[in-house]
Amino acid sequence: YPVERIRNFSIIAHVDHGKSTLADRLLEITGTIAKTDRNKQVLDKLQVERERGITVKAQSASLFYDHKGVNYLLNLIDTPGHVDFNYEVSRSLSACQGVLLVVDANEGIQAQTVANFYLAFEAQLAIIPVINKIDLKNADPERVEKQIEKLFDIPVNECVRISAKQGTNIEKVLEKVIEKIPPPQFNTTDPLKALVFDSTFDHYRGVIANIAIFGGEIQKGHKIVSAHTNKRYEVNEVGILTPDEQPTHKLYAGQVGYLIAGMKEVTEAQIGDTLFMYKQPVEPLPGFKSAKPMVFADQTEYNNLKSALERLTLNDSSVTVHRDSSLALGAGWRLGFLGLLHMEVFNQRLEQEYNTSVILTAPTVPYKAVLSSAKLIKEYGNSEITIINPAQFPDKHSVSEYLEPTVLGTIVTPQEYIGKIIVLCQDRRAVQKEMLYIDEHRVMLKYLFPLNEIVVDFYDALKSLSSGYASFDYEDAGYQAADLIKMDILINGNPVEELATIIHSDKAYATGKFLCERLKDAIPRQLFEIAIQAAIGKKIIARET
Ligand code: GDP
Ligand code: MG
Repeated sequence: YPVERIRNFSIIAHVDHGKSTLADRLLEITGTIAKTDRNKQVLDKLQVERERGITVKAQSASLFYDHKGVNYLLNLIDTPGHVDFNYEVSRSLSACQGVLLVVDANEGIQAQTVANFYLAFEAQLAIIPVINKIDLKNADPERVEKQIEKLFDIPVNECVRISAKQGTNIEKVLEKVIEKIPPPQFNTTDPLKALVFDSTFDHYRGVIANIAIFGGEIQKGHKIVSAHTNKRYEVNEVGILTPDEQPTHKLYAGQVGYLIAGMKEVTEAQIGDTLFMYKQPVEPLPGFKSAKPMVFADQTEYNNLKSALERLTLNDSSVTVHRDSSLALGAGWRLGFLGLLHMEVFNQRLEQEYNTSVILTAPTVPYKAVLSSAKLIKEYGNSEITIINPAQFPDKHSVSEYLEPTVLGTIVTPQEYIGKIIVLCQDRRAVQKEMLYIDEHRVMLKYLFPLNEIVVDFYDALKSLSSGYASFDYEDAGYQAADLIKMDILINGNPVEELATIIHSDKAYATGKFLCERLKDAIPRQLFEIAIQAAIGKKIIARET
């Protein structure tokens, strides 16, 4: 396939708007998979994805399509929709020249639609809006097209109206892909330049790297080098994903496919790495920003957890892993996740795919402290430290400033819930940044939130006060100064390390009272008195007996 006949694209959407269903239809219409039972969600390979109905890992598939007598190779890369996995979305987009932005004709633009649009827009990709579920009784494609025009500045007539479920207008989508998305601008005669954009671990074959070829060609027997590690490999197999691996003779510039090259170690297939031909080095492609963990939790060691963790983190390099131990829980790991759903999904995958069982503690967020004590600065070798464990919280006399992580949250809601949502956000110490009507009935709100205020139950609270109608997405917004304190919990006068928490001083009394009440219910009744106290330094702020 000459590059003019290749198109690389992704489908992006708010969760449940129909990405996976549309992907199935595209695979069927191009004869990639058989038209059997509906809703099989072929690209969702993981058990956790099928059970939860969400996409976690980006998957790719190559489709062949005849258009006006010309045969095209279309590489489709599915992306996860949930906020926690935006990192996977940006990874997938780097291998594409265009996207299908799917929007539900009934629900209209939601928080993740906005976030995903900007990811694609910033990557300068061609964006084709697809209005899905036009078969629904309450579908209002006109209204959604107007929202798209107002928010994204895309003319109404560029939208394609489809029903992925019923297979309506799927051909039109493929025609748009060919007309609107530019072919990749790469040359097969250039030296080899391949981007590793994903990788999976196979128990039998070792590391399987998903690659996008930005120049040259690659085939079995070639000697290649990783720009990241400088290690040399001999290529054993290359091929395309249909969506199962199908070996091919070669992969050419502009193509997307997989590579097996005897990489055995989990660290060898670094995502964002550039591969080039031995003795023909090239300028490496700009790597990905490594994902920043936002939520930390401890996991306690059991049977084969160590090797399971190593393998699963190869499949999901956005998880950070540190050894850790505590008095009550024993040896374990402190893991960093992108968000709560990410944490739950990771845990479920450990159990289902690696047959391990784990105990997970309540999550915390990474705080920072700017040190003022010369002694501590010397000890840490740095004047700014990150605190992920309350036990390391430095005393305020040796600190000039504490910092907390923040996120910029986008909320899309029907207007009748605005009042309640504003109260909820204020209660979470959030600051309003923007408020915009996207049509007569719907509003988009932007707030700067301290991360720890949304990490546990914000999403549930938002959903319940809006009867499920408000949607939420967030992106990292850096650190801000905060009046933080460490709160200890004392049982009969003795501090219990595992129960200590770092909180904002405004929330100290309420949180202390709440924790003491909960512990009173949780600790089995005894024949003697037990004092349960919350304390800040030496000061007791709440007590139950
Ligand atoms: P994803 O989360 O974006 O991958 O969404 P899915 O493809 O999993 O679809 C979410 C739900 O919407 C599923 O129950 C689908 O059956 C349903 N759905 C998808 N497309 C359509 C459509 O065109 N019409 C209707 N009525 N339902 C659809
Ligand atoms: Mg899906």
